[in-house]
Amino acid sequence: MTKVLPADAAGIREAAATLAAGGLVAFPTETVYGLGGDALSTAAVARIFAAKGRPAEDPLIVHLADLADLPRVTGALSPQAALLAGRLWPGPLTLVLPRGPAVPHSVTAGRETVAVRLPAHPVARALIAAAGTPVAAPSANRFGHTSPTSAAHVLADLGGRIDLVLDGGPATIGVESTVLDLSGPVPTLLRPGGVSLETLRELLGEVALGGRAAEAGGQIAPGLLDRHYAPESALHLCVGAPAACRGWIRAQAARQIAAGRRVGLLVPDEDAALLAGLAADIEPLGPAGDPAAIAGRLYAALRALDARRPDVILARDIGDVGIARAILDRLTRAAAGRVSILTPSERRATQ
Ligand code: AMP
Ligand code: MG
Repeated sequence: MTKVLPADAAGIREAAATLAAGGLVAFPTETVYGLGGDALSTAAVARIFAAKGRPAEDPLIVHLADLADLPRVTGALSPQAALLAGRLWPGPLTLVLPRGPAVPHSVTAGRETVAVRLPAHPVARALIAAAGTPVAAPSANRFGHTSPTSAAHVLADLGGRIDLVLDGGPATIGVESTVLDLSGPVPTLLRPGGVSLETLRELLGEVALGGRAAEAGGQIAPGLLDRHYAPESALHLCVGAPAACRGWIRAQAARQIAAGRRVGLLVPDEDAALLAGLAADIEPLGPAGDPAAIAGRLYAALRALDARRPDVILARDIGDVGIARAILDRLTRAAAGRVSILTPSERRATQ
């Protein structure tokens, strides 16, 4: 049985004791809900991988409550890491740093680097501080599923597989942290998230795009990561100018509906109004001009739509500036290659 507790002082106390005893606790952070275990315990870390069905090659992010705990997981910070830690922690930024000797190899998937984050969410911070140990915490979903932004989402995926869920209400940012690799000669963005590429470049100067961040806009290689964030229904993503993509969605939806298929639309409020005449199941995401609101609703909307099992889900991008880059990345993953790029645009350039 998985216990659910409110994220009050008593709940946090019990959750911290569970972590300290090697158990698994899902807890709210400002990005998404995390599935926490003692990062310095190989047994707890093994339980995280097992509960999620996560492949051992996929390393975990280690969460700390306080900068003073950094020496437990990594060495002295480089000037760049210290600058970012001072300016952006606590917050939705994960730094890939040299691995400290106490961090098990299973946490880092055998790498000599460790991903570290200080979350800003008061419940996350209080829980980690009370547990008295660094907490390894991937998103609290079954591997490959949409990340959870509420306790109900966590239970839907991991109920019966973990000890406890701390219910602290909905996660506010709604998409996972930015992952920045500081272990090489040039800072490299591995995953866009709550801290924007623009902010990182303002602070650091050059930031390269690496890994999946270099693949935004649909030019993704087939492979394991393509299945990340996938809904059950096939999601088709349109990337291009808003009016062009609305036209594409209208035509696609009409064609699918004519063929007897049930169509779901995951679109900004403006599009929802303009496409209301279609016999489609519309899940409005918020105003296109407010990417932060759309990020906040993205996963809940995707889960809600998916639960009604449309045959196909149609969506469009809202650009790639700020957090919109993270939204584009997650929608691209959810589309698993089903991406239509309508207009060539320099905003998809990789530098
Ligand atoms: P999740 O916790 O599910 O949001 O995923 C964490 C992600 O952080 C992993 O899938 C990797 O992409 C990234 N990550 C974690 N540790 C490292 C590391 N040592 N080096 C590079 N990327 C990492
Ligand atoms: Mg995840």
